[in-house]
Amino acid sequence: ETITVQDLAARMAVRGAEVVKVLMKNGILATINQMLDADTAELVVAEFGHKVKRVSEADVEEGLEGAEDAPESLVPRPPIVTVMGHVDHGKTSLLDALRATDVAAKEAGGITQHIGAYQVDIGSGRPVTFIDTPGHAAFTAMRARGASVTDIVILVVAADDGVMPQTIEAISHAKAAKVPIVVAINKIDKPDANPERVKQELLNHDVVLEDYGGDVLGVPVSATKRINLDKLIEAVQLQAELLDLKANPNREAHGTIIEAKLDRGRGVVATVLVQRGTLRVGDIVVAGSQWGRVRALLNDRGQSVEEAGPAMPVEILGLDGVPEPGDLLVAVESEKRAREITEYRQRKRRDQAQVVATGARGSLEEMFSQLRSGETGELPVVVKSDVHGSLEAITAGLEKISTEEVKVRVLHGGVGAITESDVTLAAASKAVILGFNVRANAQAREMAKRDGVEIRYYSIIYELLDEVKGMLSGMLKPEA
Ligand code: GDP
Repeated sequence: ETITVQDLAARMAVRGAEVVKVLMKNGILATINQMLDADTAELVVAEFGHKVKRVSEADVEEGLEGAEDAPESLVPRPPIVTVMGHVDHGKTSLLDALRATDVAAKEAGGITQHIGAYQVDIGSGRPVTFIDTPGHAAFTAMRARGASVTDIVILVVAADDGVMPQTIEAISHAKAAKVPIVVAINKIDKPDANPERVKQELLNHDVVLEDYGGDVLGVPVSATKRINLDKLIEAVQLQAELLDLKANPNREAHGTIIEAKLDRGRGVVATVLVQRGTLRVGDIVVAGSQWGRVRALLNDRGQSVEEAGPAMPVEILGLDGVPEPGDLLVAVESEKRAREITEYRQRKRRDQAQVVATGARGSLEEMFSQLRSGETGELPVVVKSDVHGSLEAITAGLEKISTEEVKVRVLHGGVGAITESDVTLAAASKAVILGFNVRANAQAREMAKRDGVEIRYYSIIYELLDEVKGMLSGMLKPEA
């Protein structure tokens, strides 16, 4: 069995040049029309397994994606929101308060279950779905696994504290994922609250609220005193309208696992957010390397439901093993098909583990020599520095050395040691981390090694800039 580089790329929904790059990395020089044998193709596929979004590479997975939805089949769906912000600025309080605004939950006597996501309808008939795990760590970890679930980020900033380091991180993570931000200026009930200062500080991070001529919506709120929560929901809905979020509910279900656990009484319990189609009791589903027949569906109030459409969070019972957050869930036509896919995926996962274990990931130099053959004109970086002054000098310097063809994109710049958060961000965006007079902490180093993220250290600014300049010129496309 053989397949051309081009066909393989098409099946994985990646550019042919990317497959060529991966082959080069493995010492195989190939053109777009080259035939590859099954082993080589599988190697390529394994390499892409943890890099691209939905891999429908092998024959067993063929058709799993399903046909594209015709425009007329699409209907509006609720937005999916993640809450981010600095520690103690009120993320958890806000999620709790928002949840309490749900009309149906009130009617049900306020009985709520934590299933990792919930839906709120303030009575407008237009629900909003919230992911119940605040913070950017989970958000970016999911993204690194190829799952992009969040449509809108609510950035919580305490009005008595202002923009803090994790606020800046959250902004970077949301921007890197190209997810729009709605700002909740929280704790306005406090006597020392200063919402204007928050708005001004946000300007420094390119988050420009409407009052300042920008297009970012901001709402002053109090989570604990429940002030303006309806206005915040309205702002989210307004932002959602701009995004024109739609899905086709009339097809087999495709969704993402948000949480999963083994429950003593109930077996495997997983929370899924359906992204298109409708999930029903009795469906046979594949989630990552697990499969099962849906025995029951439970909504965020613990009630049993027959089906779940787009953006409605449900717990599903009936999987044979615990999937991982970020795994895609797809309804398939038969048990046989489900077995075939999961067996294949389990085998692939073992192979992948071996690839990583043998250290087959490329070094930065290799990456750039590969980029030369691609079309990427952007070098994403994360910059960490010991003091603000150097950080500013470096960011300004990086901007200056960008050219028309290739430019440096600073995903995040911060002061302090290189942390896991930086590594997750870099991994999800395939960026390089530049450390100036700072080191990576032990966990970050471990993670970087595991995820193949390159960290470079410098103590002289012009050396840093010189090296990056070298990287950029390496990225230049050869003249055709
Ligand atoms: P998180 O770390 O961002 O999840 O923050 P929490 O929700 O745990 O809140 C941190 C602290 O701020 C808690 O003591 C909350 O009671 C308090 N807090 C949260 N929101 C408000 C608010 O709107 N007003 C006041 N006064 N305190 C708040």
